[in-house]
Amino acid sequence: MISQEQIPGIKKQLLQQIKTTLPEDQQESAKQYVESLDSKQLEEFLDKNRLIKTDQDGSQTQKCAFCSIVSGEIKSYNIDENELAIAILEINPISEGHILVIPKKHISSSKEIPKDIFSFADKIAKRLKTIFKPKEVITSSANLFGHEIINVVPVYKNETIDSERHQAKPEELKNLQESLKEKPKPKIIKKPKIKKLKAEKLWLPRRVP
Ligand SMILES: [Zn+2]
Repeated sequence: MISQEQIPGIKKQLLQQIKTTLPEDQQESAKQYVESLDSKQLEEFLDKNRLIKTDQDGSQTQKCAFCSIVSGEIKSYNIDENELAIAILEINPISEGHILVIPKKHISSSKEIPKDIFSFADKIAKRLKTIFKPKEVITSSANLFGHEIINVVPVYKNETIDSERHQAKPEELKNLQESLKEKPKPKIIKKPKIKKLKAEKLWLPRRVP
Protein backbone atom coordinates (compact mmCIF):
# COMPACT_ATOMS: atom_id res chain seq x y z
CA MET A 1 0.00 0.00 0.00
CA ILE A 2 1.27 3.42 -0.89
CA SER A 3 1.60 5.69 2.13
CA GLN A 4 0.34 9.27 2.17
CA GLU A 5 3.93 10.52 2.30
CA GLN A 6 4.86 8.61 -0.86
CA ILE A 7 2.06 10.09 -2.94
CA PRO A 8 3.59 13.47 -3.85
CA GLY A 9 6.88 11.85 -4.93
CA ILE A 10 5.19 9.22 -7.06
CA LYS A 11 2.88 11.75 -8.65
CA LYS A 12 5.83 13.99 -9.43
CA GLN A 13 7.59 11.15 -11.22
CA LEU A 14 4.44 10.22 -13.11
CA LEU A 15 4.02 13.82 -14.24
CA GLN A 16 7.62 13.81 -15.49
CA GLN A 17 6.90 10.59 -17.31
CA ILE A 18 3.79 12.10 -18.89
CA LYS A 19 5.91 15.02 -20.08
CA THR A 20 8.49 12.78 -21.74
CA THR A 21 6.38 9.94 -23.05
CA LEU A 22 2.95 11.25 -23.98
CA PRO A 23 2.02 13.25 -27.04
CA GLU A 24 1.46 16.90 -26.19
CA ASP A 25 -2.28 16.89 -26.85
CA GLN A 26 -2.78 14.12 -24.28
CA GLN A 27 -0.57 15.59 -21.60
CA GLU A 28 -3.04 17.97 -19.97
CA SER A 29 -5.79 15.39 -19.41
CA ALA A 30 -3.28 12.79 -18.19
CA LYS A 31 -1.86 15.35 -15.78
CA GLN A 32 -5.27 16.16 -14.37
CA TYR A 33 -6.05 12.46 -14.08
CA VAL A 34 -2.86 11.67 -12.15
CA GLU A 35 -3.36 14.65 -9.85
CA SER A 36 -6.90 13.53 -9.00
CA LEU A 37 -5.90 10.03 -7.85
CA ASP A 38 -6.02 9.09 -4.18
CA SER A 39 -3.57 6.56 -2.75
CA LYS A 40 -5.67 3.49 -3.56
CA GLN A 41 -6.43 4.66 -7.11
CA LEU A 42 -2.80 5.58 -7.58
CA GLU A 43 -1.71 2.10 -6.59
CA GLU A 44 -4.21 0.53 -8.98
CA PHE A 45 -3.04 2.83 -11.74
CA LEU A 46 0.63 1.95 -11.21
CA ASP A 47 -0.22 -1.73 -11.04
CA LYS A 48 -2.39 -1.66 -14.18
CA ASN A 49 0.32 0.12 -16.13
CA ARG A 50 2.91 -2.27 -14.79
CA LEU A 51 4.74 0.59 -13.14
CA ILE A 52 5.05 -1.22 -9.84
CA LYS A 53 7.44 -4.02 -9.27
CA THR A 54 7.20 -6.26 -6.27
CA ASP A 55 10.57 -6.84 -4.66
CA GLN A 56 11.63 -10.17 -3.26
CA ASP A 57 10.76 -9.09 0.26
CA GLY A 58 7.24 -8.30 -0.91
CA SER A 59 7.61 -4.55 -0.81
CA GLN A 60 6.50 -2.59 -3.81
CA THR A 61 8.51 0.09 -5.47
CA GLN A 62 7.84 2.19 -8.49
CA LYS A 63 9.42 0.93 -11.63
CA CYS A 64 11.57 3.23 -13.68
CA ALA A 65 10.43 3.80 -17.28
CA PHE A 66 13.99 3.65 -18.63
CA CYS A 67 14.57 0.30 -16.93
CA SER A 68 11.35 -0.86 -18.61
CA ILE A 69 12.65 0.38 -21.97
CA VAL A 70 15.92 -1.50 -21.42
CA SER A 71 14.06 -4.70 -20.52
CA GLY A 72 11.77 -4.30 -23.53
CA GLU A 73 8.56 -3.94 -21.50
CA ILE A 74 8.14 -0.48 -22.99
CA LYS A 75 8.57 -0.42 -26.76
CA SER A 76 11.15 1.95 -28.15
CA TYR A 77 12.86 2.76 -31.43
CA ASN A 78 16.22 1.16 -30.83
CA ILE A 79 19.02 2.22 -33.14
CA ASP A 80 22.04 0.69 -31.44
CA GLU A 81 23.09 -1.22 -28.37
CA ASN A 82 26.16 -2.54 -26.62
CA GLU A 83 26.71 -4.44 -23.39
CA LEU A 84 26.38 -1.27 -21.28
CA ALA A 85 23.78 0.91 -22.94
CA ILE A 86 21.09 1.23 -25.56
CA ALA A 87 20.47 4.10 -27.95
CA ILE A 88 16.87 4.91 -28.83
CA LEU A 89 15.04 7.66 -30.66
CA GLU A 90 13.50 10.36 -28.45
CA ILE A 91 9.78 10.37 -29.26
CA ASN A 92 9.49 14.05 -28.32
CA PRO A 93 12.66 15.29 -30.00
CA ILE A 94 14.24 18.72 -29.92
CA SER A 95 15.51 18.17 -33.46
CA GLU A 96 15.57 15.50 -36.13
CA GLY A 97 17.68 12.57 -34.98
CA HIS A 98 17.51 13.34 -31.22
CA ILE A 99 18.75 10.17 -29.51
CA LEU A 100 18.69 8.98 -25.91
CA VAL A 101 21.55 6.84 -24.72
CA ILE A 102 20.27 4.83 -21.76
CA PRO A 103 22.67 2.95 -19.46
CA LYS A 104 21.31 -0.56 -18.97
CA LYS A 105 21.94 -0.30 -15.24
CA HIS A 106 19.84 2.07 -13.15
CA ILE A 107 22.64 4.57 -12.60
CA SER A 108 21.47 7.52 -10.54
CA SER A 109 24.40 9.90 -10.79
CA SER A 110 26.14 11.17 -13.92
CA LYS A 111 29.45 10.62 -12.13
CA GLU A 112 28.73 6.90 -12.13
CA ILE A 113 28.23 6.68 -15.87
CA PRO A 114 31.11 4.57 -17.19
CA LYS A 115 33.41 6.22 -19.72
CA ASP A 116 32.49 3.56 -22.25
CA ILE A 117 28.91 4.81 -22.27
CA PHE A 118 30.13 8.32 -23.11
CA SER A 119 32.22 6.88 -25.93
CA PHE A 120 29.16 5.00 -27.13
CA ALA A 121 27.24 8.32 -27.12
CA ASP A 122 30.11 9.91 -29.08
CA LYS A 123 29.90 7.13 -31.63
CA ILE A 124 26.17 7.85 -32.04
CA ALA A 125 26.93 11.59 -32.31
CA LYS A 126 29.42 10.89 -35.11
CA ARG A 127 26.85 8.80 -36.93
CA LEU A 128 24.36 11.68 -36.67
CA LYS A 129 26.98 14.07 -38.07
CA THR A 130 27.64 11.82 -41.03
CA ILE A 131 24.01 11.18 -41.84
CA PHE A 132 22.28 14.51 -41.11
CA LYS A 133 25.21 16.94 -41.47
CA PRO A 134 24.11 19.20 -38.55
CA LYS A 135 26.21 22.19 -37.43
CA GLU A 136 27.08 20.27 -34.29
CA VAL A 137 25.78 17.55 -32.00
CA ILE A 138 25.18 18.23 -28.30
CA THR A 139 25.56 15.45 -25.76
CA SER A 140 24.09 16.22 -22.38
CA SER A 141 23.24 13.97 -19.45
CA ALA A 142 19.89 14.20 -17.69
CA ASN A 143 18.17 12.36 -14.89
CA LEU A 144 14.59 11.13 -14.99
CA PHE A 145 13.02 8.60 -12.62
CA GLY A 146 16.43 8.62 -10.91
CA HIS A 147 17.98 7.05 -14.02
CA GLU A 148 20.80 8.86 -15.76
CA ILE A 149 20.50 9.19 -19.53
CA ILE A 150 22.46 11.03 -22.21
CA ASN A 151 20.71 13.22 -24.75
CA VAL A 152 22.40 13.30 -28.15
CA VAL A 153 20.90 16.21 -30.05
CA PRO A 154 21.83 17.42 -33.55
CA VAL A 155 21.91 21.21 -33.85
CA TYR A 156 20.75 22.47 -37.25
CA LYS A 157 19.96 26.10 -36.40
CA ASN A 158 20.32 27.28 -32.83
CA GLU A 159 18.67 24.49 -30.86
CA THR A 160 19.80 23.98 -27.27
CA ILE A 161 19.06 21.23 -24.79
CA ASP A 162 16.18 23.37 -23.45
CA SER A 163 14.63 24.07 -26.83
CA GLU A 164 11.01 23.27 -27.42
CA ARG A 165 10.24 19.67 -28.25
CA HIS A 166 7.77 18.40 -30.76
CA GLN A 167 5.98 15.12 -30.97
CA ALA A 168 7.42 12.86 -33.66
CA LYS A 169 5.04 10.86 -35.82
CA PRO A 170 5.43 7.06 -35.85
CA GLU A 171 6.28 7.06 -39.61
CA GLU A 172 8.89 9.73 -39.00
CA LEU A 173 10.44 7.63 -36.21
CA LYS A 174 10.39 4.47 -38.31
CA ASN A 175 12.20 6.22 -41.17
CA LEU A 176 14.75 7.69 -38.79
CA GLN A 177 15.29 4.29 -37.23
CA GLU A 178 15.94 2.86 -40.67
CA SER A 179 18.52 5.47 -41.56
CA LEU A 180 20.25 5.43 -38.18
CA LYS A 181 20.34 1.75 -37.40
CA GLU A 182 23.84 0.43 -37.58
CA LYS A 183 24.09 -1.43 -40.81
CA PRO A 184 26.17 -4.57 -40.91
CA LYS A 185 29.41 -3.72 -42.63
CA PRO A 186 29.53 -5.07 -46.16
CA LYS A 187 31.79 -8.04 -46.30
CA ILE A 188 34.76 -7.60 -48.51
CA ILE A 189 34.93 -10.60 -50.71
CA LYS A 190 38.46 -11.25 -51.72
CA LYS A 191 38.75 -12.29 -55.27
CA PRO A 192 40.96 -15.31 -55.63
CA LYS A 193 44.05 -14.19 -57.39
CA ILE A 194 44.39 -15.71 -60.76
CA LYS A 195 47.93 -16.72 -61.21
CA LYS A 196 49.28 -15.50 -64.39
CA LEU A 197 50.69 -18.29 -66.29
CA LYS A 198 54.25 -17.75 -67.02
CA ALA A 199 55.12 -17.87 -70.62
CA GLU A 200 57.68 -20.57 -70.24
CA LYS A 201 55.17 -22.87 -68.72
CA LEU A 202 52.83 -22.57 -71.61
CA TRP A 203 52.94 -25.42 -73.87
CA LEU A 204 53.19 -24.22 -77.36
CA PRO A 205 53.43 -26.45 -80.32
CA ARG A 206 56.79 -26.17 -81.77
CA ARG A 207 56.97 -24.55 -85.02
CA VAL A 208 58.14 -26.81 -87.58
CA PRO A 209 60.36 -24.83 -89.84
ZN1 LIG B 1 16.00 2.83 -14.25
